[in-house]
Amino acid sequence: MKQYDSFYINGEWVKSTGSQFGQVINPATEAVVAEVIEGTVEDVDRAVQAAREAFDSWSSTPSSVRADYLRKIANGLQARVDEVALAISNELGSPLQYAKSVQAQEPVEGFNLYADYASLMDQVEHIHNSMVVREAVGVCSFINPWNYPLFQIVGKVAPALAAGCTMVVKPSEITPINAFILAEVIHDAGLPAGVFNLVSGLGPVVGEAMCVHPEVDMVSFTGSTRAGTRIAELAAPTVKRVCQELGGKSPMLITEDVDSDALAAAVNYVVEDVMFNTGQTCTALTRMLVPRSRLDETNAIVKASVEALVVGDPLSDDTFVGPMSSARQRDTVQAYLKIGIEEGATLLTGGLGHPEGLSQGYYVRPTVFTNVSNEMRIAREEIFGPVMCILPYDSLEEGIRIANDTPYGLSSAVWAASKDDGLAIARKIRAGQVYVNGGEYNLEAPFGGYKQSGNGREWGAQALHEFIEIKAIQL
Ligand code: NAD
Repeated sequence: MKQYDSFYINGEWVKSTGSQFGQVINPATEAVVAEVIEGTVEDVDRAVQAAREAFDSWSSTPSSVRADYLRKIANGLQARVDEVALAISNELGSPLQYAKSVQAQEPVEGFNLYADYASLMDQVEHIHNSMVVREAVGVCSFINPWNYPLFQIVGKVAPALAAGCTMVVKPSEITPINAFILAEVIHDAGLPAGVFNLVSGLGPVVGEAMCVHPEVDMVSFTGSTRAGTRIAELAAPTVKRVCQELGGKSPMLITEDVDSDALAAAVNYVVEDVMFNTGQTCTALTRMLVPRSRLDETNAIVKASVEALVVGDPLSDDTFVGPMSSARQRDTVQAYLKIGIEEGATLLTGGLGHPEGLSQGYYVRPTVFTNVSNEMRIAREEIFGPVMCILPYDSLEEGIRIANDTPYGLSSAVWAASKDDGLAIARKIRAGQVYVNGGEYNLEAPFGGYKQSGNGREWGAQALHEFIEIKAIQL
């Protein structure tokens, strides 16, 4: 078992001033896979000072040179993609095939993408006697979740590096190992000392210190709405820019006039979307809105589709659903299953307890509730597990109203008889993303939430704007 006692600060591995080690547990086997020192306020201070000292030089480095570093990092990460995938599979329980193609490969694409976008920083606008230029916002704190651990980190680090920002990164204490690999890759790419710094540890200690430090200009956070609001409060007294990517309870609306092939395609799309990553996806389409006249037909297809999913060992090629990321997350899902049963929803498949033969590991049963009303807690609160709700509606207007009747607005989907019909509905949904008739995820499109799903956008060229200060020079 590996022990990590140092953080990457100012271009070198520096022993933490902490004394407590946190355990990283493989959720499929419940074995401890690593111990990682829990960082301290002093560690954060050292890292922020290093980022501050590196800022002037890095932000004035030509964008083409910054792009070269981003490509070097992408190449370095590509060379270690199998190692990253295995690390994420071990710490998160993500099925290995999926860990390779999404969890490890997408971050490589992310670094390449922002190498392409770095030159956008050189754009100058002339307005009469004014010259408007773009500059980097400054020193950034990046606080990350465990569900797409490296992808979330890269969604912040890559555009920030392209913009000329320097940074302190905190991975989730549940899944820190992939971030240590990234720091090694960045070191090997020769990024100037202090531009990227890594400190791991607990949210209330390391995370909070990253939000209050007076030398930090911006905090970008991905995680729960609970921690996101706390972060905004902590950042307010020093007027930091705050970007929040928070939770979701996303709807999929299927219209009455879809034919039976389209209904089957829509169901398979939702089931895959929800069960992917064991339901631990912030955009998961967990509220499926179905015309009442098509409810029985839909229930039958959903049941067959979910029951065909292979749940089990993340290292097996056949596995689609692995364990939950932690015992705590498993317990949260079990608690919501109880709530759903008590609220009177109909259990279509799955339910309490673990899948047959999987008593070891934090496994839960992929579960679908039907006849759910939008007032139930299972329809309103983010469960963050392989649990889906089917809600019947009586008219399209009512369906759209229910789709929007949520405190969240991260993602959504529509399946209609034609793309044009779907597009018309998409414009009425209050969410940062809408997938129409099976539209595919696009890394170059902006990603972020309406309402309590967050502020700001990640990915695409839009993400670069989050890291830009605009300066007007009057001549
Ligand atoms: P979490 O909020 O518990 O933790 C996220 C990070 O915040 C961790 O690094 C944690 O250590 C840190 N943190 C916790 N309390 C803190 C505090 N008081 N001050 C500073 N930092 C603190 O969330 P999680 O359980 O890791 O992730 C799951 C949540 O993330 C879900 O709600 C999910 O929807 C959301 N999420 C959102 C997106 C998105 O892009 N919108 C993406 C992935 C996950």
